[in-house]
Amino acid sequence: MEPLVALCKRRGIVFPGSEIYGGLAGTWDWGPVGALLKKNYKDLWWKDAVQLRDDIVGLDAAIMMNPKAWEASGHTTGFVDPLIECKICHQRFRPDKPDEVKGHEATHKGKTVEWTEPQKFNLLVKAYLGIIEGKQSEIFLRGEITNGVHVNFKNVLDTTRVQIPFGIAQMGKAFRNEITPGNFVFRSREFEQLEVQFYIKPEEAEGKKWFEYWKKDRMKWFLSLGMKRENLRFRDHEDDEKAHYAKAATDIEYNSPWGWQEMMGIHNRGDWDLSRHQQFSGKNLTYRDPETGETYIPWDIETSSGLERPLLFILLDAYRKDEKREWLQLDPKLAPYKVAVFPLVSNKPALVAKAEEIYHNLRKSMMVSWDDRGNIGKRYAAQDEVGTPFCITIDYTTLEDQTVTVRERDSMEQKRVLVSDLETFILKVI
Ligand code: ATP
Repeated sequence: MEPLVALCKRRGIVFPGSEIYGGLAGTWDWGPVGALLKKNYKDLWWKDAVQLRDDIVGLDAAIMMNPKAWEASGHTTGFVDPLIECKICHQRFRPDKPDEVKGHEATHKGKTVEWTEPQKFNLLVKAYLGIIEGKQSEIFLRGEITNGVHVNFKNVLDTTRVQIPFGIAQMGKAFRNEITPGNFVFRSREFEQLEVQFYIKPEEAEGKKWFEYWKKDRMKWFLSLGMKRENLRFRDHEDDEKAHYAKAATDIEYNSPWGWQEMMGIHNRGDWDLSRHQQFSGKNLTYRDPETGETYIPWDIETSSGLERPLLFILLDAYRKDEKREWLQLDPKLAPYKVAVFPLVSNKPALVAKAEEIYHNLRKSMMVSWDDRGNIGKRYAAQDEVGTPFCITIDYTTLEDQTVTVRERDSMEQKRVLVSDLETFILKVI
């Protein structure tokens, strides 16, 4: 983890939030390279979840919602973590994360640490809305992005041609007053989520079928991004750890440097959300089967993952170091830059002009990095550290035969490719 965190800072992937003011615990700013990585992940996810499917539509609901929505979904009372406080230094921890508790006790070297009794701590972040002092209304920043989907169930039914079974996909920011943010971006107080709420007939057999379907499908997704199978596993929730809404719940976990950790959750939420929103809003949220005329509140199979957390695990899986170099063996689909273009030297106008021509052409179809500083070895090293799959060098031979040197990140092999073939060659790989 340590060399990866240093690399992320050094190469503009992730910076501590508000760093020049001493930071703000649990927040992170994604730099120029990290922003590209996030965008690539989200674009691929949207393509997989929405673009390539007939049975899922997208949505982008507001972060701020009528507070009644959070009462209905149970978050104002049920979105809680247990909290204990160290009687020596008053730092707070989660008793359900025993490793973190033990780690803290060790910091008080040899002293016996006493803890307060566990109390429930609500994770919703409060905000105040309105312009008249004293009359502002208290609202919540969304603690998960799910609610915005359920409250639009009817709107989506009325404006699209979807029929059950169908899903609504959404991604966006969520906020949690986490008791113990930490492990770099693993648990932060502001993060993004990517979710599909998949509505099905309210029947046990359908529930089991789609729950299994989505488990397999999500595992396939992470493998398609180049993650190692041996670092991933399913873990079913025990009855006493299931969220207040869940009929069945499984996590996909990652074998992190600090143990197996949740990367995403797959939940059978039953009809909890829609029936509660129907009850609290007084609006009819039932579905009418167009063939049988049968009316019911559907069940929801949810797949919910973060963005920063899977990206951290993808980066950990991709991180490589040997005696010569450090590099990110990222799947080319995810790589922030697809290719870097180098003129061999920066003081030969003919070489620079040719390199610029190639750079300007390629960047119409992909993210391209440009570097004309220092020696080629240093330029390769910089690109390796952000996972750029290919580097192209324009040299004197290019001016004679219209070929360039293409160097591949993982094998470090070099070959000459015709300038006219470059774009097709790279697009095929990415
Ligand atoms: P944990 O117990 O590890 O904090 P959770 O069980 O509360 O996680 P869910 O509510 O199931 O998490 O959220 C779904 C997904 O959203 C998680 O699997 C994770 O990828 C992401 N996520 C949740 N909380 C955070 C957070 N504080 N920071 C970053 N990502 C998060």
